[in-house]
Amino acid sequence: MSEIVKILGNQRNISHLADARALGKLSHAYIINGEAGSGKKTFANYIAAALQCDRHPDLAAGPCMTCPSCIKAATDNHPDIIWVQHEKAGLISVAEVRGQVIDDISIKPYYGPYKIYIISDCQYMNEFGQNALLKTIEEPPAYGIILLLTDNADSLLDTIRSRCIRLDMDRLPSAMIEDILIRQKGLDAAAAKSAAGFARGNLGKALELAEGGSLAQLKSFTEEILRNLNSKVAFELFKAGAELDKIGGMDVLDITRKWYRDVLVIKSTGSREDLYFPNEIRALKEQADRISFEGLNNIMNDIDEARQQLEFSVKAEAVFENMFLRIRRNGKSSRN
Ligand SMILES: [Zn+2]
Repeated sequence: MSEIVKILGNQRNISHLADARALGKLSHAYIINGEAGSGKKTFANYIAAALQCDRHPDLAAGPCMTCPSCIKAATDNHPDIIWVQHEKAGLISVAEVRGQVIDDISIKPYYGPYKIYIISDCQYMNEFGQNALLKTIEEPPAYGIILLLTDNADSLLDTIRSRCIRLDMDRLPSAMIEDILIRQKGLDAAAAKSAAGFARGNLGKALELAEGGSLAQLKSFTEEILRNLNSKVAFELFKAGAELDKIGGMDVLDITRKWYRDVLVIKSTGSREDLYFPNEIRALKEQADRISFEGLNNIMNDIDEARQQLEFSVKAEAVFENMFLRIRRNGKSSRN
C-alpha cells in the first residue's frame, strides 16, 4: 500500500481515534470492518501515516504528507508500518502471523513512535492464526498497534473481537459518490446517479461499475436476463445461473430487486425519475403494464426467498435459476 489518499467520510471513526490518542487511550488492536470496496485499506494507510507523522500531534489533522515519516509512508518505505503479506489467496496462515507479527513486534520501532501492523482480509485468518495472535493482542508492547481489516468481523473468534475496538466503515453519501464519478470518471449525471444508487455508499463498487469491471459485467448480464425473461426457456436460465455464479454473483439479488423496484415505481406512480435502470425504460414500462401488483409482490418474495437460500448455502447457480423461473411464472400469471 503506497500513496496516502485523503479519506472521505468516516469522520466518526477518525474522531474516535483522535480523541483516544489525545487522551493517551489508543487501543492496541482495532478491527476495521466494512464490505469490499468500502475503503478499509485506504483508511488504515491514512491512520497509520497520521499516527507516525512527525509534525501533526493531532490525529484529526491527518498526515502532513511532507515530513520524512509521511514521505516514507507514502512510498511504502516506513519501517514501522507493516502490511502483513500472505502467500495463498484465501488463507492467512499461522506461520505468516507468527513470522510477520508475533515474532517481530518485540523489536522496537526503528523510526516512529509506534509499530503498526496491518492485516487485511482477516476473514481468511484461520482459527490457529487467530489463536496465535491472541496473546500478542492481550499483552502487546506499549508501541504496538494491530489493525485487523475484514469484510466480516463476525467471522473472527469471540476472543479476538472482545479484545479489539471495532470501527465500521461509513457509507458515503450518494451525492459525494456521484460527484466523484462525474468529475473523475467523466460519467454523465444520469449514469452517475444510477451507479451511485447501486453502490449504496460504497465508493469502490461505484468506481468498479464506472470502469466496467466484473460488477458492471454482472449488472449488464442480469439486466439482459430480466429484460428478456419472458422469452427465455428453462435451459437458458439454467445456463445463466451458472454464468452468474461464475462472475461472482452475490450482487445478482440486489440488482434483481432494484429492477423490480423500478417496475413497481413506474406502475404505481408513472414516474420515470430516480430509476436505477434509466436506460431500460422500455422494458421496465412493458413489465409494469403486464405484471399485476400481486405478481410484483410475489416476485419480491421470490427474491427474498432466494436470499435466504443463499444464506443457508444452497448452491448459488441453482438459487438463481430457480429464482428466475419463479419470477417468470409470477410475471406471467397476473391480471391487472
Ligand atoms: Zn507528516
